[in-house]
Amino acid sequence: MATSSGMAAILACVMGLCSAGDHVIASRSIFGTSVQLFSNILQRWGLQTTFVSLTDAEEWKAAVQSNTKLFFVETPSNPLTEVCDIGLLAELAHQAGALLAVDNCFCSPALQKPLGLGADIVIHSATKYIDGQGRCLGGAVLGKKDLLEPVYGFLRTAGPTMSAFNAWVFLKGLETLYIRMQAHSKNALALAQWLEQQPGVARVYYPGLPSHPQHALAMQQQQTGGAIVSFDVKGGKEAAWRLIDATRLISITANLGDAKSTITHPATTTHSRVTVEARAAAGLGDGLVRIAVGLEHVDDLKADLALLSL
Ligand SMILES: *Cc1c(COP(=O)(O)O)cnc(C)c1O
Repeated sequence: MATSSGMAAILACVMGLCSAGDHVIASRSIFGTSVQLFSNILQRWGLQTTFVSLTDAEEWKAAVQSNTKLFFVETPSNPLTEVCDIGLLAELAHQAGALLAVDNCFCSPALQKPLGLGADIVIHSATKYIDGQGRCLGGAVLGKKDLLEPVYGFLRTAGPTMSAFNAWVFLKGLETLYIRMQAHSKNALALAQWLEQQPGVARVYYPGLPSHPQHALAMQQQQTGGAIVSFDVKGGKEAAWRLIDATRLISITANLGDAKSTITHPATTTHSRVTVEARAAAGLGDGLVRIAVGLEHVDDLKADLALLSL
């Protein structure tokens, strides 16, 4: 089902498959706006959500209630690129009589296929890699036809469907998706390896690096490490801002999934509404920088980040 945005895809999935009185378990490290949707808006309509650790299966088990209808995750997570075991969470969801929905925005269908690993529903923000050039907003919900019948009913009745023009742009995007994702991933891996060597970098978060805590799992589940690389700079927020302000080629924006590389300071942008305590608990420090690695020559990206070499 094609929707007007990624958020509309998430909303349609929940409106189609859940009712007032149902319970959702979601990972704490989902997209910030998804947190707002579950914790503020849907709560007012009688849907309760418990947030748990993406990677701790025991927390998921402990959160199950008799009315749990949906497990909701994103993997790899934003911005720390944590990876969960999709097959294991699908098993836990099914044991609880619930469905597993995976927001597959970061990998796109070119790099990860959650339905094949046991998930029931896959959600995309097509705004990101499926378009690939930041031109249109759109989203998608995928799953078995019978299961998605009520999602279709919601979309047709309430109307957050994809416009015909945007559908045409996304179909053009899909024609090059596979090749773009290979090129994004190759650049991201090269940049992550370089970042690990720079004196100004304290730690790199990228599932394609052997130093990533879930590297082995990521390499089973995903075709590559993906295109998002995060890293802690030495010197905290000031050093992170100095680095970001010094870039000329990389665009400073919270968006991702573009042919152009984008750089973000999560603590003061995408995650600024998260409390300082919650950010600290999640390991999201003030020195953290996220790059959605684009299709430029990797040497030009390194040159744009030259402050890290000093
Ligand atoms: C951007 C994003 C969304 C929301 O998509 P929109 O198309 O901007 O509504 C949902 N999930 C993830 C992981 C995203 O990055």
